[in-house]
Amino acid sequence: MKKSKSAIAIFASLIISIIIGVLLQGNLQTAELFRPLGTIYINLIKMIMVPLVFSSLIVGISSITDIKKIGKMGVVTIVYFMATTAFAVIIGLVLSNIFKPGVGITVGSEVYEAKEFPSIADQIVGIFPSNILEALLNANMLQIIFAAIVIGIAVVKVAPKGERLRGVIEDLFEVMSTITKGIMVLTPIGILGLMIPTVAANGLSVLIPLGKLILVFYLAVIIQMGITYTVSLKCFSDFKLKDFYRAMMPAQVIAFVSCSSAAALPVSMQRTQEELNISKEVSGFVLPLGATINMDGNALYQGIVALFIAQAYGIEISIPLQIMIILTGTLASIGAAGVPGAAMVVLSTVLLSVGLPVDGIALVAGIDRILDMGRTLTNITGDATAACIVEKTTR
Ligand code: ASP
Repeated sequence: MKKSKSAIAIFASLIISIIIGVLLQGNLQTAELFRPLGTIYINLIKMIMVPLVFSSLIVGISSITDIKKIGKMGVVTIVYFMATTAFAVIIGLVLSNIFKPGVGITVGSEVYEAKEFPSIADQIVGIFPSNILEALLNANMLQIIFAAIVIGIAVVKVAPKGERLRGVIEDLFEVMSTITKGIMVLTPIGILGLMIPTVAANGLSVLIPLGKLILVFYLAVIIQMGITYTVSLKCFSDFKLKDFYRAMMPAQVIAFVSCSSAAALPVSMQRTQEELNISKEVSGFVLPLGATINMDGNALYQGIVALFIAQAYGIEISIPLQIMIILTGTLASIGAAGVPGAAMVVLSTVLLSVGLPVDGIALVAGIDRILDMGRTLTNITGDATAACIVEKTTR
């Protein structure tokens, strides 16, 4: 399929899914018939995710002759992740304090049970795999990244001996990239299966009571993408905005409809490498790492929804406490996987730790999918801008 044709097909499928979803509101059973298409599509993507990330990163790292470059890449990536997350935190805070979407919401007798979440220390220990095969089998991204970097560096050190292994892994990477392209052709069909049940289940009756929250949240998403990412792309790279969005649109649509950064990862990697000419080591390092630890959309969400709940319960919270809530939420998100609903689980621990009513989550649980779409879109767009900036600043 021609590139522009595939972009049009993806977009058209999104619109058609929304129309069919709206028509099927009130007829959820029929809407659910489309779901297997989405599940099969996501399974196919998951099938290639681990070998693609693993092989891309080993091939990329082992092609770097200057080991210092790996360190520089790591530092720039982490600093950029932290900076964009800080902006997201500020945007979330400012908008919730201006618009106060929770004021006037009636609190019922909702009950929500907080989930356990690993401590920061456990999350750090969790980066180091005790068994490489187990890391691969569990698709544990941070462990896979760690193992791939170590193997990549060792391949350079052992040269010329590691050449055969590198050749095999390079072939694996090429094969996985080709499969990714094949799966992308199926994207318009996958969208139908992911989007129709979502739209059908989220009718106006669900959305209107929390309309202000949804609008404030999406305003925050637009500001984060329109200002934070646009300004950073302009200041720290020479990528044109138009080229960036044209390249990333398929991955963004997949993130939006699947609510999973992990599911969008193979396509993000493929598009950044082939459309934006970003090197394998940068895209293989920044994007999988970002899909796991850099979640700007979650930072926006933690701020806006935590304050929404406090406002709904009529609890005043000072600005320093507000900042603490969001920072705790953002730190706790680091270990959260890029899967649907992850941020809501994190939020429950954050509320619990600062003594806000965890039951308040039940107020927003019904529209979490709608917010998750925006969170995941923001998350992966942030990661892709990071790849552009790391590519340009570490070359
Ligand atoms: N669905 C998000 C992601 O995959 C995580 C979350 O916000 O729940 O990036």
